[in-house]
Amino acid sequence: MRHVIALDVGGTGMKAALVTDGGELLHRARRATGRERGPDAVVATILDFAAELYAYGAEHHGAPALAAGLAVPGIVDEEHGVAAYAANLGWRDVPLRALLTERLGIPVALGHDVRTGGLAEGRIGAGKGADRFLFVPLGTGIAGAIGIDGRVEAGAHGFAGEIGHVVVRPGGTDCPCGQRGCLERYASASAVSEAWAAACGDPDADAADCAKAVASGDPNAVRVWQEAVDALADGLVTAVTLLDPRTLIIGGGLAEAGEVLFQPLRDAVRRRVTFQKLPTIVPAALGDTAGCLGAGLLARDLLTTTHPTTAEVST
Ligand SMILES: [Zn+2]
Repeated sequence: MRHVIALDVGGTGMKAALVTDGGELLHRARRATGRERGPDAVVATILDFAAELYAYGAEHHGAPALAAGLAVPGIVDEEHGVAAYAANLGWRDVPLRALLTERLGIPVALGHDVRTGGLAEGRIGAGKGADRFLFVPLGTGIAGAIGIDGRVEAGAHGFAGEIGHVVVRPGGTDCPCGQRGCLERYASASAVSEAWAAACGDPDADAADCAKAVASGDPNAVRVWQEAVDALADGLVTAVTLLDPRTLIIGGGLAEAGEVLFQPLRDAVRRRVTFQKLPTIVPAALGDTAGCLGAGLLARDLLTTTHPTTAEVST
């Protein structure tokens, strides 16, 4: 059966799948990145893992994969297929697309993890059918994917969508990026965990605990939560003003709070807009499989659009 390899590389683990033309999952696998052995070992692990998936497809599904899609963290030069920088993997300028193409002998697409996840949310997840959307996962940090007519904008240098580093509190908390008062210092799951741990006096308390306390009406938690919601709304309204998206898709750990987040967030955004059109604000639908599903879409796109001739090979 015609299929592609989808591979999502995270800091510690990798998720992979074999996906058919129609988007059906044939096979799933996971593996540790082995980053404790250094950046070169991670690259070797990825290449070996992909080669095993290629062999698995040949053995169990009649023919090997026709293309591969790879989603990686950090800064990604998608046009040249280079993982330019990833702090958590120690990468600098790794030509992953060329390395994997050489290893497998099939077309390979390389994507930024959040943009790739956003591609999946926009096409087959929460934004299905939306021609203009913004995907914002609230996790350890905050990033964004700007969806335009079925693709995700990478920017001139691979930096587009970094809404987590929009300054929402000028002169505020220091950010590792070098600025002060960045959105992710106030509204990421990590920032809320930190703020709630300090406010409730339990160093182990996290954002999910804060959300529970909010739901039960704890005024201290409501104050911490609302500060995060207000910062998030400030950042999102900046994005809405610039991009005029039809749908805002909010994902990541903090979005798991459900209506505890979405109800005050929709109110906070509505209060702030004047002339801007209010987008629909919805929770992400694909969870932590978005990156892998998006990698599959990148690979399938290679077969149908960018390299039309490839699709005619080995049917
Ligand atoms: Zn920053």
